[in-house]
Amino acid sequence: MNFHFTEEQQLLRDTVRSFVDKEIMPFIAEWDRQGKFDPELIPKLADLGLMGVCIPEKYGGSGMDYNSLAIVCEELERGDTAFRTAVSVHTGLNSMTLLQWGTEAQKQKYLVPQAKGEKIGAFGLTEPGAGSDVAAIQSTAVRDGDYYILNGQKTWISLCDSADHFLVFAYTDKSKKHHGISAFIVERTWDGFSSKAIKGKHGIRSGNTGELFFEDVKVPAENLLGEEGEGFKIAMSALDNGRFTVAAGAVGQIMACLEASVNYCHERETFGKPIGKHQLVQQMIANMEAGLQMSRLLVYRAGELKNEGKRNTRETSLAKWQACDFANKAADDAIQVHGAYGYSDEYPVERYLRNSKAPVIYEGTREIHTIMQAEYVLGYRQDKPLNKMLPAWENE
Ligand SMILES: Cc1cc2nc3c(=O)[nH]c(=O)nc-3n(C[C@H](O)[C@H](O)[C@H](O)COP(=O)(O)OP(=O)(O)OC[C@H]3O[C@@H](n4cnc5c(N)ncnc54)[C@H](O)[C@@H]3O)c2cc1C
Repeated sequence: MNFHFTEEQQLLRDTVRSFVDKEIMPFIAEWDRQGKFDPELIPKLADLGLMGVCIPEKYGGSGMDYNSLAIVCEELERGDTAFRTAVSVHTGLNSMTLLQWGTEAQKQKYLVPQAKGEKIGAFGLTEPGAGSDVAAIQSTAVRDGDYYILNGQKTWISLCDSADHFLVFAYTDKSKKHHGISAFIVERTWDGFSSKAIKGKHGIRSGNTGELFFEDVKVPAENLLGEEGEGFKIAMSALDNGRFTVAAGAVGQIMACLEASVNYCHERETFGKPIGKHQLVQQMIANMEAGLQMSRLLVYRAGELKNEGKRNTRETSLAKWQACDFANKAADDAIQVHGAYGYSDEYPVERYLRNSKAPVIYEGTREIHTIMQAEYVLGYRQDKPLNKMLPAWENE
């Protein structure tokens, strides 16, 4: 395993960091307060090539490797979870899934504009009655000549109001249980489609999350992704990529917690010395540092496997679970380091704590990943190699 960043990766980190410092940091507290998602930022991210990091250049992307995608996610989440989430769903869950499973025509029509950031992609799996238990979805797609008629409802969908294209999962044959789920590319402008944001979220308030409604939406048959019945497999392969970006983002969240806490340790004095000199405060700082380094190693190990085109569900799940838990704990400790000031939005750490909770829930809850890891170790779960685990550049 290579533990060194290339010059290009270092440059990428510097570029994203200065973008975040200039375009996000000065405004984020107010956006968060107002619950404002700023769509203006998407073209700016696209100009930097950040909306198609792992997508080959021939499909409009930047053709970088997975650990470069991790760097982008770390640095974006250092600014705010909302922007990393946008990259996670647009690139990790949608575009990379089109790259792996799409026909050439689907790639030209949907992937190319997405990778360039001209169109935004999202991912519609969760329903009011189905989150962890994917096979419990109720949406249906019934073949009618050259179309499928899509009916159903999705909830908690990131970028619900801003995305142009959605990957939507629905039953084409309920009798086959999860082998009867299929995946479709659905456009926002089609008749029968509508969306509605969820208000009153605990965190990621400057992100857009909400419901999708499909009422007799006519989906052209050529918008079926993969084969009928491959939807569950497609969703799981998408999650392998999405979870990687969430884990990398959690690393960025820990970096932000450390940055704020270290500054405060030097600035605040009690009992005649900076609080950083108190051993119990040092313990919290040391725990954050340990969480940062361990999470990073897990993320880059998963990234290396992905670069090699190897199955990495187990390693990605471990990275996602651990990095998100470390980030949640780091944010809690960051408030503790700040005392009462950390409890107000005068400092960013209360936002970090609110933001760090959703990643422990989405793309596999803490409990689901715990069970997965135990099952791997106990020999109850084994992964077959997927036939579409190609590294990005292999498609060039
Ligand atoms: C901010 C945000 C953004 C999101 N964005 C998207 C998106 O873009 N697209 C999308 O499709 N979804 C999205 N989601 C939804 C997310 O993926 C689901 O919330 C998640 O999969 C969990 O499902 P659930 O909320 O229905 O919880 P449930 O599955 O109902 O779980 C409830 C509780 O029971 C536990 N539990 C469930 N089953 C088991 C079990 N077998 N053993 C032990 N414990 C169990 C869970 O861990 C959890 O603690 C988003 C969610 C949030 C909060």
